[in-house]
Amino acid sequence: MPTICAWCACEMSGAEAANGLVSHGICESCRDNIFFQGGARMQEYIDSLKLPVAVINEQGFVQTINTAARRFLQKETVPVEGLPGGVVFECEYARHPEGCGNTLHCSACAIRRCVIYTFDTGEPQHQVPATLRYCGKPGVPEEIIMYISTEKVGEVVLLRIDWVGDAPDDAEHAV
Ligand SMILES: [Zn+2]
Repeated sequence: MPTICAWCACEMSGAEAANGLVSHGICESCRDNIFFQGGARMQEYIDSLKLPVAVINEQGFVQTINTAARRFLQKETVPVEGLPGGVVFECEYARHPEGCGNTLHCSACAIRRCVIYTFDTGEPQHQVPATLRYCGKPGVPEEIIMYISTEKVGEVVLLRIDWVGDAPDDAEHAV
């Protein structure tokens, strides 16, 4: 069975597959686009991905997000660069005075835990359920269940929203 890149869905070569984590790896071309190209080329690459993706630095700040994420987070016209992840995701707790990453709730945040885990170990996470207390709409915050994946590339972690709500039947092939 061919190994599929978990990010661009291309078929990986045998050598690439053997190099990485076989089930949910990232191909050389994706890695190259993020790691070596940087800047506009990296932006162009992540914009080509259909699912929402955020590029997070080691301090938990958003370096950039892709077009799908801008649409999903309703951030088409506002800058997100350099903001804490929770602020960009409109997490209710990020609005507390302690700030994103420092409230009592943050230690249990699956998004934060996945990003930190991937930074610390270099290991990707795949379709992990996470609950976001989303307050992007007026009124009471809404609990949003989402499934996320992470991948470390160089100095950043890519964070992807695989889907929102209940897992689809063909979850493994959602990408
Ligand atoms: Zn790829």
